[in-house]
Amino acid sequence: MLIIAAHPDDEVLGCGGTCARLAREGHDVYIAILGEGATSRYNRREEADPSLVAGLHARSREAAHILGAKEVFLHDLPDNRFDTVPLLDVVKIVEALVGRLRPEVVYTHHGGDLNVDHAVVHRAVLTATRPIPSQTVRELYTFEVPSSTEWAFQQFKPVFRPNVFVDVSHTLETKLQAMRTYETEARDFPHPRSAEALRALARRWGSAVGCEAVEAFELVRALE
Ligand SMILES: [Zn+2]
Repeated sequence: MLIIAAHPDDEVLGCGGTCARLAREGHDVYIAILGEGATSRYNRREEADPSLVAGLHARSREAAHILGAKEVFLHDLPDNRFDTVPLLDVVKIVEALVGRLRPEVVYTHHGGDLNVDHAVVHRAVLTATRPIPSQTVRELYTFEVPSSTEWAFQQFKPVFRPNVFVDVSHTLETKLQAMRTYETEARDFPHPRSAEALRALARRWGSAVGCEAVEAFELVRALE
């Protein structure tokens, strides 16, 4: 399994509970984070304190450890400026990861998110995992990221329409623990990235499918 996220914390927000569950069940789960994170808080990327990015990298490793991932791959695309990078360059990063790790299942961003980096990653992953005969990826899912997917208010196509639900009743607390490592990214309720809101979202999808807590995904394609 390979989780491909734009920013440090998206991997936890989008599928942290699923990641922890799959790792516990013995699957090899890898995480790739394509962007450096945080530097968009400065007017110019060069003004950002380098220790900020280094700190986020350390937190990503800590979060991956909590979730039970085998390894996390950290890249440095410019935060909230992925649309200034040729799409092909992003595709090449993902192709290299897929070629090296040979995942069978990939989880990534939904294409209709408000955040432009999420949309770029979605498109790059679809391109890099296109089903040519040598392709190892047999299942491709998109996840929702609270504070980006719902904040598009269905103004961008496609709208997130989850149709695969993973029971994370036993790993939701692990997800919240991993999220706590990203103290600079977490917020107080009612922000969508607060622990309370994340718990509410898991229970909302859980109630839709008869479970205590669930992470919701949209299947892009599967090859049986
Ligand atoms: Zn993000």
